[in-house]
Amino acid sequence: MFIRRSLGIFVLLALFAAPFTNAQKADGAINERDVRAHMEFLASDAMKGRASGSGFELLAGEYLASMMRQFGIEPAGDEISPGKRSYIQTIEITRQGFASPPALSYGSGTNAVTLTHGKEIVVFRMGSQATKGGLQKVAAGGSPEAGKISLIRYDQSDQEGFARRFGALFDSPAAAVLIEETPQIRAGWDRSAQRRISFTTVKGLTRGTQTSVIFVSSAAAEALSKLEEGTEISIGGELSEPEVTRTWNSVGKIEGSDPALGKEVILLSAHMDHIGERPNAPGEDKILNGADDDASGCTAVIELARVLAKGEKPKRTVYFAFFGSEEAGGFGSRYFGANLPFPKENFVANLQFEMIGRPDPAVAADELWLTGYDRSNLGAELAKRGAKIVNDPHPQQNFFQRSDNYNLARQGIVAHTVSSYGLHTDYHQPSDEVGTIDFAHMTRSINSMVSPVTWLLNSDFRPTWYEGKDPSQ
Ligand SMILES: [Zn+2]
Repeated sequence: MFIRRSLGIFVLLALFAAPFTNAQKADGAINERDVRAHMEFLASDAMKGRASGSGFELLAGEYLASMMRQFGIEPAGDEISPGKRSYIQTIEITRQGFASPPALSYGSGTNAVTLTHGKEIVVFRMGSQATKGGLQKVAAGGSPEAGKISLIRYDQSDQEGFARRFGALFDSPAAAVLIEETPQIRAGWDRSAQRRISFTTVKGLTRGTQTSVIFVSSAAAEALSKLEEGTEISIGGELSEPEVTRTWNSVGKIEGSDPALGKEVILLSAHMDHIGERPNAPGEDKILNGADDDASGCTAVIELARVLAKGEKPKRTVYFAFFGSEEAGGFGSRYFGANLPFPKENFVANLQFEMIGRPDPAVAADELWLTGYDRSNLGAELAKRGAKIVNDPHPQQNFFQRSDNYNLARQGIVAHTVSSYGLHTDYHQPSDEVGTIDFAHMTRSINSMVSPVTWLLNSDFRPTWYEGKDPSQ
């Protein structure tokens, strides 16, 4: 037995004698101490849960920027003077609400009818500040027409069919859809009526007009159905003063060294915001620290940045982006995607890191999973290069659509999220604390991505969507 072993030792020595490639040198390059350091800062109570668009989100961005500065990574945020950039990208968000509850009205003079938000109707989403159009009474099995105010009656005999069609109504071409109340809608009527209706625009982000979604009571639906097809209906109200707030991204890059591949870009990203404080949370602790969500992803990206900045310059360019306001609508990644600091055709792929702080019992102990693994060949190629990545074991959760990657994937960019979230119950709770993090798992996981990512940065491989899986189509 021993001989074999000694033979084995020879083979090993021969291996060690082989020249170290960049990837091999980098494996195990990340240590738990540094991982802890980032986590203990980003998810500390002092960071107050890094609420989207808050000073603590910016503080997280400045912290990550200072790390990138330390590692020698180039700033790639806003231009602060000709040819000089900051790491920080500032994004202006304007929210405008209604000074009084919005209303739906039709008819004139003594026949004028006004249905007010919270009473006969509930405005679930305002697609634009004011909406006007002709009434369309959508027949059973029919669909809303572009520019119309489309009334959808609730068919009690076909509850399943109605539920199936419900989601698509939110993306309809109509100016507004008026959805007759269902038992579920009625159950949430008062809560929906409390919601603040506001209208958000992001500077630098063209806002497509969206259909307005209005729930109407059965009595109101009955009255509307008695109107002439095409009757003019308007929805709106007195707007309140616009409120301008900001959110931020923190962005750095390592320029690629190869004359041809150097202009091609790989983006490694995470979101640096979380939910902040929840005053009505039960118990003492009101701070949602967001250790797993997503301080762990930020830590993965900043540690990969450290390793990549230390080694030989990669052939391709790599961007590191820490997005703001992921929890509040993905404004950071949407803004980044709409204002790319490089030509879109050079964008090869994006890997978002989300919730890798704890192992997922649904996969093997040292495995991570990729959202939308079965949508493109990126996951399979990375796995061939040693990435311990498998398919997302929770497809019913739609995680592919639920993180920043999706705002890029919708533009046709191959973008996926890497995670090991096992549906733990600390999700979006004050209990998502550093104390729950499995640092051995986290450090091992980040290390396992060093070689595959380094390979991707030094290859000419361009991932593609599988047939019919491109979300932008
Ligand atoms: Zn998250």
